[in-house]
Amino acid sequence: KVYTGDEIRSLVKEQNVQFLRLMFTDLFGMIKNVEVPISQLDKLLDNKLMFDGSSIDGFVRIEESDMYLYPDLSTWMVFPWGNEHGKVARIICEVYTSDRKPFEGDPRNNLIRVLREMREAGFTDFNIGPEPEFFLLKLDENGEPTTKLNDKGSYFDLAPMDLGENCRRDIVLELEKLGFDVEASHHEVAPGQHEIDFKYADALSAADNIQTFKLVVKTVARKYNLHATFMPKPIDGINGSGMHLNMSLFGKDGNIFYDESDKDMQLSQQAYWFLGGLLKHARSFTAVCNPIVNSYKRLVPGFEAPVYVAWSGSNRSPLVRVPSSRGLSTRFEVRSVDPSANPYLAIASVLEAGLDGIKNKIDPEDSVDRNIYRMNAEERDDQHIVDLPSTLHNALKEFQVDPIMKKALGDHIYQSFLEAKKLEWASYRQEVTQWERDQYLEMF
Ligand code: ADP
Ligand code: GLU
Ligand code: MG
Ligand code: MG
Repeated sequence: KVYTGDEIRSLVKEQNVQFLRLMFTDLFGMIKNVEVPISQLDKLLDNKLMFDGSSIDGFVRIEESDMYLYPDLSTWMVFPWGNEHGKVARIICEVYTSDRKPFEGDPRNNLIRVLREMREAGFTDFNIGPEPEFFLLKLDENGEPTTKLNDKGSYFDLAPMDLGENCRRDIVLELEKLGFDVEASHHEVAPGQHEIDFKYADALSAADNIQTFKLVVKTVARKYNLHATFMPKPIDGINGSGMHLNMSLFGKDGNIFYDESDKDMQLSQQAYWFLGGLLKHARSFTAVCNPIVNSYKRLVPGFEAPVYVAWSGSNRSPLVRVPSSRGLSTRFEVRSVDPSANPYLAIASVLEAGLDGIKNKIDPEDSVDRNIYRMNAEERDDQHIVDLPSTLHNALKEFQVDPIMKKALGDHIYQSFLEAKKLEWASYRQEVTQWERDQYLEMF
């Protein structure tokens, strides 16, 4: 709901809110908070609230550090916890520069820009239904997270195997209190691993929801003395955590991906082109959708995560799956994305990829309905199936040479992202790991 300033003022009174938590997201997808007492409400509603942008990763240098927070009043939410000193409400804000322009380095502003351009191209909505997975880990006696899993359960297991169940139920209840429409929640394949799916929403709200979701999951897990991690591959040898993105593009007449008259798949021409764009740019949006060193430890064969660029109407191994529902729910599921991705940037990058497909009428390769993991390299070559990048370094190489990624992130974010990620890789590259010592110390 889009509230007016006066409605917010009366909500504050009615609910006795004492603090405002102003949220935005940095380059790496971390939620940043500026908390102000309710006395600052008028200033906030007048777009006069300032903060120091130079202390935020990937934002600006000291010399240009004064920035404004413009509240998005549709994101008003009163937190059900932490009310010891009075109620706390959060509002997600847009970051503006000191000369009152939307700040290009704000990932949320960037998504707003990309969505505006999408509307100018004649579409109305880009809908996103995320499927974030996470692990619940035990804490040690100092309250630090361990790698001890909280249970030995597996996919759709029931109690008492699934000790995380109470915690997960509590998370779902909190989410519902906050207005989330939770569609499903279940134990995932790996021990200690869970998934909660909530209803799809327009791209901007979906990205906001993902941020709120992570905060709720982590907060509730702590109550159970557990640490919730969205790290893509916390433990080797078992499944990692993905954040599949279901996506559909809407126009004036509804879901433009659906076409009853297509005898094969009931997909429209534009849907095939969008898919063509997704596949063409998959190797370059990987850096954005799988942005950390650890992301690439998940994208390996054998753990239900994609390794090859291909699509299918049925099997779950490829990068893009077309779930069987049609009509309004006709959608693509991009399975490579993981929950370490900045959701604003990930969504912008897959949208630009798809739109480029429509604009340039890019036909996808034929669908692959066999298990790709059973094919040998030659068979994959015959079907033009390429690999996803195997490391962050390789992903950045692809990212750098694709102009569509620059378009998706805008110059400012594109540059700071590339710089930061190159540093991250350089730091990782210098590390000598235990694996190496185990393998080589005695051998050589
Ligand atoms: P899976 O079969 O991969 O387990 P789920 O049923 O768990 O998929 O998740 C489906 C997700 O897709 C939900 O978030 C749902 O809201 C979303 N979804 C449904 N219809 C659409 C649509 N038209 N556009 C985008 N997302 C959609
Ligand atoms: N955990 C798997 C992944 O890494 C996905 C499992 C599933 O299909 O839900 O993507
Ligand atoms: Mg899953
Ligand atoms: Mg899925």
